[in-house]
Amino acid sequence: MGQSTSIDWSTLGFSYVKTDFRYLSHWRDGQWDSGTLTEDATLHISEGSTALHYGQQCFEGLKAYRCKDGSINLFRPDQNALRMQRSCGRLLMPQVSSEQFIEACRQVVKANERFIPPYGSGGALYLRPFVIGVGENIGVRTAPEFIFSVFCIPVGAYFKGGMTPHNFVISGYDRAAPNGTGAAKVGGNYAASLMPGAQAKEQGFADCIYLDPSSHSKIEEVGSANFFAITRDDEFVTPRSSSVLPGITRLSLMELARDRLNLKVSEGDVRIDELDRFKEAGACGTAAVITPIGGIKFGDTLHVFHSETEAGPVVKRLYRELTGIQCGDIEAPAGWIVKV
Ligand SMILES: *Cc1c(COP(=O)(O)O)cnc(C)c1O
Repeated sequence: MGQSTSIDWSTLGFSYVKTDFRYLSHWRDGQWDSGTLTEDATLHISEGSTALHYGQQCFEGLKAYRCKDGSINLFRPDQNALRMQRSCGRLLMPQVSSEQFIEACRQVVKANERFIPPYGSGGALYLRPFVIGVGENIGVRTAPEFIFSVFCIPVGAYFKGGMTPHNFVISGYDRAAPNGTGAAKVGGNYAASLMPGAQAKEQGFADCIYLDPSSHSKIEEVGSANFFAITRDDEFVTPRSSSVLPGITRLSLMELARDRLNLKVSEGDVRIDELDRFKEAGACGTAAVITPIGGIKFGDTLHVFHSETEAGPVVKRLYRELTGIQCGDIEAPAGWIVKV
């Protein structure tokens, strides 16, 4: 732990790095064991595991940040714990208590402290908690045993030379069904998004945008991030739908837009034929915080918001406020930061 790393923090991206320790807990006989840290980065599971055949698995993503004073911030881990409980519930997996979830995250951050990018580098330690169904089984049913694990990787600043807008294209595919698993953070949604995402990238776009799966007339998700936009009269709008993933970045931006930027905030329909209402738009999630949306291609037309080359003023203010809070430079709303 005192050992330093030979990582070049300035060129770090978002790639797998084998760090020193990960947390592992097993669910057997109706309960989770107390969990341990292990140096073994390989899982040994039955070939009959439901996670492998029937997609019985869910995951989370959150970051730990090094502050100016050397302390370490976890950003809203209680929200990730609650969301993982809802994902587990939807897929008939046993829930991990918020207490065990946050304790696992703390242990993993502490044990891999040498991998936390320094304050000011723009990087963070990305934590990946997950639950998988394991054990000997073949029929379509919930697994006899489960694993809860948390590993971490150091990640770099998403935008190296300042925020740059990206263009997106509307997909004809759906990532989730109307009453399906869109609101749960499960691998199956991601498997369904791989082909549409690859097609969007082949056409030169950053990713695709999914419309609501019942009427295909309203924006729902931007690849694996949430959509928001700012109306011409300064209202923050984000889609309301039972198939949108309830992002914690999205939730945090709604609260900051209301309480710190004094904007009106609403969850509602974002009709694809009414994009002229908005002067700025963005995609938000833990990985990039905010990706400004330059334009959206729908059919033959590219609808451009603020600019294809520069982020708009409201998006910039939201980004500065949230990233300032995460690394401890700006005072956080009560309960948002958990010190490691
Ligand atoms: C994880 C995720 C998000 C963003 O959630 P955050 O909690 O902000 O990271 C948005 N959409 C999808 C589909 C996701 O899986």
